Amino acid sequence: MITMNCFNREEGDLRNKETNAFQRVVQSGWWILGNEVKHFEQIWAQHCGVAHAVGVANGMDALEIGLRALGIGLGDEVITTPMTAFASVLAILRTGATPVFADIETGTAHLCPESAQRCITSRTKAILIVHLYGQAMPMNIWEKLCLQNRVMLLEDCAQAHGARWMGKSVGSFGKYAGWSFYPTKNLGTLGDGGALTTNDLEIAQKARMLRNYGQSERYVHPVEGLNSRLDELHAAILSERLCYLDQWNQRRKTHADFYWSHIKNPHIELLQKPRDSQSHVNHLFVLRALHRESLKRHLQQCGIESLSHYPIPVHMQKPCYDLPRDPKGLSVAEMHAAQCLSIPCHPHLTDEERQQVVDALNSFGP
Ligand SMILES: *Cc1c(COP(=O)(O)O)cnc(C)c1O
Repeated sequence: MITMNCFNREEGDLRNKETNAFQRVVQSGWWILGNEVKHFEQIWAQHCGVAHAVGVANGMDALEIGLRALGIGLGDEVITTPMTAFASVLAILRTGATPVFADIETGTAHLCPESAQRCITSRTKAILIVHLYGQAMPMNIWEKLCLQNRVMLLEDCAQAHGARWMGKSVGSFGKYAGWSFYPTKNLGTLGDGGALTTNDLEIAQKARMLRNYGQSERYVHPVEGLNSRLDELHAAILSERLCYLDQWNQRRKTHADFYWSHIKNPHIELLQKPRDSQSHVNHLFVLRALHRESLKRHLQQCGIESLSHYPIPVHMQKPCYDLPRDPKGLSVAEMHAAQCLSIPCHPHLTDEERQQVVDALNSFGP
């Protein structure tokens, strides 16, 4: 079976380094908020070209903590996309703020600026963009739109570790960015992990408090926080895995380029290939098919796993039925959800497997 991910093929030297990292932490006798977390925060901030990184328990918490650090909550609105992981929206809901859904663009499945503009009200505090599938959003457009409307720009970077817009890392544009280190992400740990990055010292300080019960100094709690810390073990593992991120991303890119030039089937539509290759780290390679379910079955019969990201747009999830949205509707997101299919594009896919995926796709007829 050609699977969406294949972790047991990861580099042998990495496994050794992870085992050493594990031993290092075990022997240190210090497992929460110690030097490993500090070190990883430092190298992750550096990698993102920002001043501060705050390690937290997962990507969703990073987004929620950032919102709370900004004082966003009940009565505030945050515009975002319905074509994202449910966690992006759940993070907003958990602060008491109201997510507002704008539609997406056809070519990239990214949030659409015109639609976002239509969603702005006097209660809008921020726009949470999602660098979906690993592709950087056009930041010039979003920076301008947010500036003109006096709302904050926030970034969900959970799928875009290493993606750059005009040479600058995603996560360095907004007020803050949320990152996930869930195992399947471009940079993942051996469990859950996340981080918030920001250039704003005050946000970083508040986030450090919020992740640790809202504690300012030992046993003093000026705010109602969470328990959301990145473990020393995960920080140590992440520091080792970060050394592989660029080569893994390069491999994903090679697969994606191959797909863009070799998939040829009138029943299959590919998303736009970006002009700037640095802007896409190909977290997922997504195509669209009118007969998606039959394509999925065909691939299955050829021994190829596929998944849909995402088959149900967030506004069609039960907790979100009544949330506000673009008055013109979310038809592009609904169409995309019905047709999208992600095919294997992980760093450890072999050239032969990639060719098999292409052959299977090109031989499909509904
Ligand atoms: C994975 C993901 C999240 C949530 O990250 P967790 O670490 O699983 O909480 C949020 N947003 C997007 C776009 C994601 O892909």
